[in-house]
Amino acid sequence: MDVTAWTVHELGSTMTLDRRDETPGDGEVLIRVAGCGVCHTDLGFFYEQVPTRHPLPLTLGHEISGKVVETSTGEGRWLGRDVVVPAVIPCGVCPACRSGRGPVCPNQIFPGNDVHGGFASHVRVPARGLCPVPDLGDRALNPFGLDLASLSVIADAVSTPYQAIARSGLAAGDLAVFVGAGGVGGFGIQIAAARGAFVVAIDVDAARLERIGEHGATLGLDAKALDFKAIKAAIHTFAAGRSIPSFRHFVFETSGSVAGQQTAWGLLPYGGYLGVVGFTPAKVELRLSNVMAFDATVQGNWACLPEHYPAVLELVLAGKVAVVPFVEMRPLATINDVFAALHAAPLPRRIVLVPEANS
Ligand SMILES: [Zn+2]
Ligand SMILES: [Zn+2]
Repeated sequence: MDVTAWTVHELGSTMTLDRRDETPGDGEVLIRVAGCGVCHTDLGFFYEQVPTRHPLPLTLGHEISGKVVETSTGEGRWLGRDVVVPAVIPCGVCPACRSGRGPVCPNQIFPGNDVHGGFASHVRVPARGLCPVPDLGDRALNPFGLDLASLSVIADAVSTPYQAIARSGLAAGDLAVFVGAGGVGGFGIQIAAARGAFVVAIDVDAARLERIGEHGATLGLDAKALDFKAIKAAIHTFAAGRSIPSFRHFVFETSGSVAGQQTAWGLLPYGGYLGVVGFTPAKVELRLSNVMAFDATVQGNWACLPEHYPAVLELVLAGKVAVVPFVEMRPLATINDVFAALHAAPLPRRIVLVPEANS
């Protein structure tokens, strides 16, 4: 099929709308893109010289929802299905995958990194791991009337914190502190609250804190107005008031900034847990011995295994994780302006680019 795709030929320069022919190979499908979210990682590739695994030219975009319009023989069951494409698709058969360690699968496919991504009319991906979306026209299955484009954020911004939280073992009554209440953090806060945790949100944006206060965060701390000592003291008081011991404190770094990582590190208490979910290529200086002395746990998290996606989709369709207030649709043709704007300053909502012809 003849498809159009916004393509990076030179980093940091203007992406151009290219045409190419895409035909699903063995085990693959072709998806007409309903929406593709713009992630911090895309900006890292484009502006911060984070290398993509596929050489340029490359179409970015790994937060994709859409409809399967063409399949290879053997994948015909997917034809016509609405789907969310996992941001990372492990191979499913290598030793890592067979040990449940799909995030480190050496053969994983990350659209917009290993293969052309979703800032396009169509994207060609493996059928393996696709998350089927139920009939959105059925009010019983979709009581909040969500559209397929909005569900694109499940591919990364919702599923990534879901896996990070699931692995941490966060339980009802625990304290969850999120450093960064933007795209990933905003959804992480809602997931943690849905698990029954008490949630504290830290951000530099007062408007974000106000919004997340209506969606799961009990306490919001403005890192622009408060210094680190004041933040730490406020969390201490919050936890003490609810009799939450330090070994039930879970800190999630979701800002992907140096300042955020320093704050998250500083908040790691005795027996506590730090989940590193955000990414920055910059370095931070820290006293690693704290992990030893505090008998603490620090864990990273790469994306989310495809098998978790149906549960994530369920949380969203059931309204336990609100998507609409955190997402803004823009025409795909504005991609260069959107990248420039996000590079200059964070926007209040996650941008989902919608191909005009497909909307
Ligand atoms: Zn991403
Ligand atoms: Zn594998």
